[in-house]
Amino acid sequence: MTGHPILTLESVHSGYGPLEVLRGITIEVHEGEIVTLLGANGAGKSTTLNTICGIVRARSGSICLSGEEIEQMPVHAIVEKGLCQVPEGRKLFGDMSVLENLEMGAYLRNDPSEIGKDLEHCYELFPILAERRKQMAGSLSGGEQQMCAIARALMARPKILLLDEPSLGLAPILVQQIFDIIRRLNDEGTTIFLVEQNANAALRLAHRGYVMETGTITHCDTAEALLSDKSVQEGYLGY
Ligand code: ATP
Repeated sequence: MTGHPILTLESVHSGYGPLEVLRGITIEVHEGEIVTLLGANGAGKSTTLNTICGIVRARSGSICLSGEEIEQMPVHAIVEKGLCQVPEGRKLFGDMSVLENLEMGAYLRNDPSEIGKDLEHCYELFPILAERRKQMAGSLSGGEQQMCAIARALMARPKILLLDEPSLGLAPILVQQIFDIIRRLNDEGTTIFLVEQNANAALRLAHRGYVMETGTITHCDTAEALLSDKSVQEGYLGY
């Protein structure tokens, strides 16, 4: 493991009404890492991300960002503290342009010259977005929408980026592009917590991983060790 813990979940429970989804999960992400959370459909991966972001409230346990408890904080305050999620399904503002979507990503900031630099950086990372800056986000292709959603999150200058299924529904060539970008963002200093169905690709990208089954963490190890673990191979890697 590299730097200090940036995100720590300790015995977190959460769910929806009578449904308990997360049953006391403990996860730690260190500064500079790419950590992936794997699991079958319905295991609770998106609920984990939504609970970290405060969209779904933890019922018990603690969630710390850079040592500060955030589980009671409003969502915008958590974003201001440097945590940003790219949700599954992208959730762009479809009738706003690419540029307007990116500007929305920076709505909590008041450093216009730095915002301008970050916009240029996003266009450098995703040249297609520069070409399409005036196009309505709703009319972008699936891959372009995913790029726009990641770029919008980057405009908040997160210390840690939470990605929910960034490869979902994309052609293999685009999946590779998105994964290359995730690696580059990590090389540039952004810590990444990645939820993925594509377990093979995610473990090849990540430093460490967790496996979740019905709201419980069953494995936690280096990506290398998980790739060679027999039960992970049989359950998630299709061997
Ligand atoms: P997938 O990969 O299919 O998205 P997941 O591991 O992300 O799965 P979650 O989306 O977290 O799983 O769902 C976990 C459980 O919580 C499922 O049984 C799901 O039906 C339920 N669930 C998710 N969102 C809600 C909601 N808003 N209201 C009620 N139940 C929900």
